[in-house]
Amino acid sequence: SAHTRELQALDSAHFLHPFTDHQALAAKGARVITRAEGIYIWDSEGHRILDGMSGLWCVNAGYGRRPLAEAAYRQMLELPFYNTFFQTTTEPAVRLAARLSELAPPVDGRRFSHVFFTSSGSEANDTNVRLVRRYWDLMGQPQRKVIISRWNAYHGSTVAAASLGGMGGMHEQGDLPIPGIVHIQQPYYWDLREPGETPAEFGVRAARWLEEKILEVGPDKVAAFIAEPVQGAGGVIIPPETYWPEIQRIVDRYGILLISDEVICAFGRLGHWFAYERFGTRPDLVTFAKAVTSGYIPLGGVLVNERIARVLHSGGEFTHGYTYSGHPVACAVGLANLDLMAAEALPQRVREDTGPYLAQRFAELTDHPLVGVAETCGLVAGLILVRDKATLARFPEEWAVGMTCRGHCFETGVVMRAVGDRMIIAPPLVMTRADIDEMIRLIRTALDATLADLRRQGKT
Ligand code: PMP
Repeated sequence: SAHTRELQALDSAHFLHPFTDHQALAAKGARVITRAEGIYIWDSEGHRILDGMSGLWCVNAGYGRRPLAEAAYRQMLELPFYNTFFQTTTEPAVRLAARLSELAPPVDGRRFSHVFFTSSGSEANDTNVRLVRRYWDLMGQPQRKVIISRWNAYHGSTVAAASLGGMGGMHEQGDLPIPGIVHIQQPYYWDLREPGETPAEFGVRAARWLEEKILEVGPDKVAAFIAEPVQGAGGVIIPPETYWPEIQRIVDRYGILLISDEVICAFGRLGHWFAYERFGTRPDLVTFAKAVTSGYIPLGGVLVNERIARVLHSGGEFTHGYTYSGHPVACAVGLANLDLMAAEALPQRVREDTGPYLAQRFAELTDHPLVGVAETCGLVAGLILVRDKATLARFPEEWAVGMTCRGHCFETGVVMRAVGDRMIIAPPLVMTRADIDEMIRLIRTALDATLADLRRQGKT
């Protein structure tokens, strides 16, 4: 329509998109999303699309939830903003901090007593970099500066967070990483396994890459290890069950801090309020963002274990913070969102009902000629598109089969993301079994269309 074309023209004239090739975009024009309800979004041409990515791993409670909008409205009228610098505070900020502290299970009998609020996951991970270095300074070990992260991780786009990350392209652009950040391989069984190696064996071997790196850097120089429980943006890389216990053993052995980046994995995504519950790890710091407000308003932060908080407090001022640390409207929405998720028992529903059901339905997709592997964990899932199911041989990268499949998904009416040849989903947690059936049906239709393309082009 003329309205869509007007918006697309303005978009291409004025809007710089994150992570977007603008030449490719100009050829097609951006898809304009205009409204949303439940698990569906609509574009400006009236197409209804099942949002298999929850916005961007955000909208766990689904779209159109009035209590969240009303919480923002009420708070804006009462106190739209005040800062938390120096010695002021606000009610929504302290209530949300207390609420998160209550929701996060203690580790080794110690609570996550404190929260440092930010507006995004990137800012929260920048906070982590400064916080762990500050911690070791105060502990009298200022030489502990190095943070170990993983290739193909995503921890954000600010300079420090992008340095922690390890996805292709991010370091090449901008002369990263900053000093003191080093990387180990990701625990991606399907790419990195050795002939005959079981997932359990691989999980232990992959965890030991951390130990090798610690020894290479020097154990007394390492401040922390940061990782996503399940790598999200890197393609929903679900580690074997043996991985996290071995990682925990290693960080314990060398006394280094563990940062669990749960920007994607927390708030029910893996069937628990926090993902470290799922894997039994004992982090010192937990990064959160996105679904803390179901994406309705920007909010992020770091949960700080009381062991760390006590040391920070002993050092006087931590010279760090953001104007919007503890923004009252964002925190009011966060509280309303957690209330709603608790009332609907969304983490439990994922753990006991929709997670297992998605696992079953997703696994059935492996009967499709293009699907070599299908894996889920709670309500995240990934499948690998393959050229040969027996050997799991992949298509040449330059054919961009994943992007073709993603296009067919959109046309069919479901959002799926392509990460190379992995097709991934992270749908809203309010999904019912019937919604999952519908999503699987749409994905299958898109896979059929992708296969038809490949056959037409003589590529399979
Ligand atoms: N950490 C993880 C694990 C993420 O997935 C993301 C965002 N996708 C971030 C950090 C950065 O969050 P934000 O985009 O809110 O800065």
